[in-house]
Amino acid sequence: MTMKIRVDPDICEGHGLCAIDAPGAFKLGDGGIATAIDTPVPSELEISARAAAKGCPAAAIMLFE
Ligand code: SF4
Repeated sequence: MTMKIRVDPDICEGHGLCAIDAPGAFKLGDGGIATAIDTPVPSELEISARAAAKGCPAAAIMLFE
């Protein structure tokens, strides 16, 4: 199954936790705002991407599977 990530830049608060939980799946831009590196997500990163979405304090990460 293919997973896609979207980070809502209006909701993201720049905590950076997603890039710690899943460094291969997220990168941080200006102000720490996260974006997905690859979407669809490489299959080996799906578990960590799920953990990052669950752990985002702002609930800014949406996963589509
Ligand atoms: S953990 Fe959530 S709020 Fe923090 S940078 Fe990632 S998407 Fe943004």
